[in-house]
Amino acid sequence: MAEKCSAINKRGTPCQAAAVHGSPFCALHGDPERAAELGRMGGLKNRHYVETDPVTIAKPSTPEDVQNVLAQTLVDMRAKKVDPRTATALAYVSGFLLKSFQTTDFEQRLARLEAERQKEDNRAEGT
Ligand SMILES: [Zn+2]
Repeated sequence: MAEKCSAINKRGTPCQAAAVHGSPFCALHGDPERAAELGRMGGLKNRHYVETDPVTIAKPSTPEDVQNVLAQTLVDMRAKKVDPRTATALAYVSGFLLKSFQTTDFEQRLARLEAERQKEDNRAEGT
């Protein structure tokens, strides 16, 4: 488990973000300049999202899991429970995850085919 950031955020509650390795703070609290810059960029536009408790999702281990996470994110984004920037990042990372599942699947199929082929070759040589 990663350490939690030890900063207190503007609402007076402890920051829930994971601390950067080797630092007591998360990426934002460890770099106030960047935080201020992001705040300016976000401005008031990003304030109309529903404040929700931190969401912990299970680690997706199948393409179906990824599909479920993406579908839920879509629903949450429409309900303004997740901001589009987070949803975009999630979709982006999900793309890589799906790709890696696909690669693993292909490799496993190929290994099975090669093993089958080897067995047949051995049989052919035996006769
Ligand atoms: Zn923090």
